[in-house]
Amino acid sequence: MSERLAIALLTAEVAPLSKTGGLADVTAALAKHLHAGGHDVRLFTPCYGSIDRAAVGAQPLAGLAGLTLAVGPHAYVFSVLRGALPGSAAPVYLIDCPALYERDAIYTTDPDEHLRFLAFTRAVFTACQRLAWGPQILHCHDWHAAFAPLFLKSSYGNEPLFAATRTLLTIHNIGYQGIFPAAHVADLDLGERLFMLHQEDLTAGRINALRHGILYADAITTVSPTHAREITSAEYGMGMQDTLRARDADLSGILNGVDYDEWDPRRDRYLLQHFDADHLQVKAALKRVFLKRMGFRIDGAVPLAGIVSRLAAQKGIELMFETLPKILQGRELAFIALGAGEPQYEKFFTGLAQRFPGRVAFHRGYDEELAHWIEATSDLYLMPSRYEPCGLNQMYSLRYGTIPVVRRTGGLADSVEHYNADTGTGTGVVFNDFDGPALEWALNLALDLYADPAHRARLRANGMARDFSWARQGALYEALYARLIAA
Ligand code: ADP
Repeated sequence: MSERLAIALLTAEVAPLSKTGGLADVTAALAKHLHAGGHDVRLFTPCYGSIDRAAVGAQPLAGLAGLTLAVGPHAYVFSVLRGALPGSAAPVYLIDCPALYERDAIYTTDPDEHLRFLAFTRAVFTACQRLAWGPQILHCHDWHAAFAPLFLKSSYGNEPLFAATRTLLTIHNIGYQGIFPAAHVADLDLGERLFMLHQEDLTAGRINALRHGILYADAITTVSPTHAREITSAEYGMGMQDTLRARDADLSGILNGVDYDEWDPRRDRYLLQHFDADHLQVKAALKRVFLKRMGFRIDGAVPLAGIVSRLAAQKGIELMFETLPKILQGRELAFIALGAGEPQYEKFFTGLAQRFPGRVAFHRGYDEELAHWIEATSDLYLMPSRYEPCGLNQMYSLRYGTIPVVRRTGGLADSVEHYNADTGTGTGVVFNDFDGPALEWALNLALDLYADPAHRARLRANGMARDFSWARQGALYEALYARLIAA
């Protein structure tokens, strides 16, 4: 085994406690992987009101109750609870501060949103001090924890406990940057070190949390190698491209792994029966059960395409506006969507279900069990994203024998290989351009391949044999941590 490292993970989401997207899956799986590898990994996350404390066995920690936390001119009282991630012994430290985290949702549009995560970041430092625990690695996830590297170099620059601490920022979604008005600059408590802030932003009247993580972390990763290159361009950088290019030597991409304890048809806890590549008749049987349950009025032989997604512009739903009705009209296809988000996309799916009754179903909302059933029983899975840092569902699909139809961007490009009908290699259908005709081409090709038993079998066998486990991906983080510590 490699050296045992002390690693703090700072994240706004961790599955299954608090999840809106892939960030939660990744931080949970990474914590479990590192813990199983013998590291002293401690995951810190806010204790939202929605978290079931009993489910994690959360216990108060001596000396960490009722602490006062100053965040600029604001004062909060917080405690730290310690528990373990369900299904693992990986320790989770919950920052309990009802004034900040007892809200209707994980993320809010409340005026103190930036304070919620500044306080979280500060509280982690305080917790480490109280625990007399000096992590070798502070692994910060997304904008919520992105001020930690700057705080380490400013407020905690003279703290011996953190003298050897190295920082890593992982960008899971560059579209979310934690921007707040410069009028709140005092909330950062930087005193004389205001010069450390990005001055152009400040002059423009804003403070960008993510940018400071990029500026001050010892290394920066995003969640696929292709996306790591993409975000240095104006098309994908969302305004961060120049800052990222300046850190080019320290920027890399590590593809997310899949938690196959959760997402594998051989043991999926939500399925009535289990299957693998040699028992695809079980997948067909589950599909018939599912079609009935969801009110479809079609034969099991009709291909079913699925999607499970946040309904945000990033996900490319708009490409389906013309394409899906056209293909549904012209070909045999059934379609199911699960998701919630922007009203225009919800409206589109609602309308589609009304227009094609018995062939299209839309479930609005968030539903873990339904997500598993869609992955397990669909024949095709659509992911026409405008940008996709990594994406998990296409990798889940591969394991379930569900053929992914994806756009060549970010992690989709790194995890799905376009099928070559001559050689029988490849795992899905990959299209290049972000437009309706390209999606139409891809979907028609996927339906043609699906209709051909030999190609269908090949595609499924190829996909089901792929391995995106954390055993591989987690090792890349461990290697990076080791490089940072040695530097
Ligand atoms: P993102 O992080 O951009 O949302 P990912 O593909 O990385 O996209 O991760 C999305 C995760 O969230 C997957 O595990 C997916 O199954 C899950 N998910 C998204 N929307 C829903 C929903 N409505 N119901 C259940 N799970 C969902």
